[in-house]
Amino acid sequence: MKLYNTLTRSKDEFLPIEGDTVKIYTCGPTVYQYAHIGNLRAYLFMDSLRRALSFNGYKLIHVMNITDVGHLVSDADEGEDKMEKSAREQQRSPLEIAAYYTDVFMRDIGRLNIDIPEIIAKATDNIEEMIDFVSKLVEKGYGYETSDGIYFDIGKFSDYGKLSRMNFDKQQAGARVEVNTEKRHPADFALWKKSEKNRLQQWESPWGMGYPGWHIECSAMGLKYLGETFDIHTGGVDHIPIHHENEIAQSEALLDHKAVNFWLHSEFLLVDNGKMSKSLGNCYTLDDLEERGYSPLAYRYFCLNAHYRSKLNFTFDGLDSAKTSLDNLIAAVHTHAGGKDEVDDSVIEGFRNEFVNAINDDLNIPKALGTVWSMARYPSKSDKIFNLILETDKILGLDLGNAPSICSFELDNETESLIYARHKARKARNFAEADSIRNTLSKKGITLEDMPGGVKVICDGKTREITFD
Ligand code: AMP
Ligand code: ZN
Repeated sequence: MKLYNTLTRSKDEFLPIEGDTVKIYTCGPTVYQYAHIGNLRAYLFMDSLRRALSFNGYKLIHVMNITDVGHLVSDADEGEDKMEKSAREQQRSPLEIAAYYTDVFMRDIGRLNIDIPEIIAKATDNIEEMIDFVSKLVEKGYGYETSDGIYFDIGKFSDYGKLSRMNFDKQQAGARVEVNTEKRHPADFALWKKSEKNRLQQWESPWGMGYPGWHIECSAMGLKYLGETFDIHTGGVDHIPIHHENEIAQSEALLDHKAVNFWLHSEFLLVDNGKMSKSLGNCYTLDDLEERGYSPLAYRYFCLNAHYRSKLNFTFDGLDSAKTSLDNLIAAVHTHAGGKDEVDDSVIEGFRNEFVNAINDDLNIPKALGTVWSMARYPSKSDKIFNLILETDKILGLDLGNAPSICSFELDNETESLIYARHKARKARNFAEADSIRNTLSKKGITLEDMPGGVKVICDGKTREITFD
């Protein structure tokens, strides 16, 4: 299996460090607001990687962190802590904010059929480990104290910049007026910050009350859960120049050796060819898509159609075609269910190899999806093909085995009772149950949109309203 390693800028043959176990770390969400569909693209990539590795027979130990402290508004240690800012704006505690948005995030990734990593690690549960890590860096001479925190001295780490291949000496010469004049180099970054006035989240440390810098959590939790060297680290391309560069500096300065073999990065989702932003009103969540009648799996299909290292431009027209293609694919797949036509084993093997080769070539899922289309359209109708497609769906995760959606708009009894059962579950605040019912309905092609006192039922572009007592 070949994977593109940002560190080497090439597709390298992947082999785990220890036997058939692959240890992976993924930079998880900062849980201060709803994840948008761009964020979710990054976790769809994480999921494809997991599924492809499992398909190749590897066992996984995979950690994803939840950033619930220390991520400042700018990745480069400037501005307010995103958690604190959101807590103040919403008049809640950072803990409540984190719990709420973590919950929504886990539900969203579940709805996208994203496989959950074995270990979900919250930054605030690992503060001791981070303090210990920073103390050791200070002892080794890599960390220095200023009036507002402890900073990493990039001048002491000769490999600084090896991931992004940026020349940081030049940055020094041309640096703008620095906000923090006590830093030895403009790119020195905070390992630990001393508490500002009215700080909500803070911990005791050898440097007084404070909180961790954003980057240290991933180095500390990677080391704790996966050991001194592990196989793969993933994140979005925006992490390359700051977050991951800093993680490498921290970990390698502490360990005196390489900490991660493969660095994998997923490209951005654009909306209408530009950046998503709240002010432009184009920062969509999965709920926004569902409200417009698109199931999470239609969005999954939309993302799988592009390679993870290509930028992907989101438009509703594009999502519309993804939705139609997914419906058509499922219908085509089912023409093989129970099929008795003769299909030679060499044909099956040919399809299988084509699919596996695409996956193992740096997760070329768009190409693999093309192979599945060829199988689905194969003129002879055979159960052998149906079963092979179900096997490929272990990687695609599109629920291709589900019955094609047939929706007459007269709500049948079963649908109606499911809608009432979901209402009852929501009233009892049993959101897991409510979501599971919503998913069942979504698989039947029925989308629900909550409204005051009832629910809008959307199917095949038609809408019907049901009100509850
Ligand atoms: P955050 O919650 O801000 O830490 O981001 C979570 C993940 O989403 C990170 O891996 C980012 O790289 C990724 N990300 C942020 N914006 C986008 C986008 N527009 N497209 C794809 N990935 C994104
Ligand atoms: Zn990280």
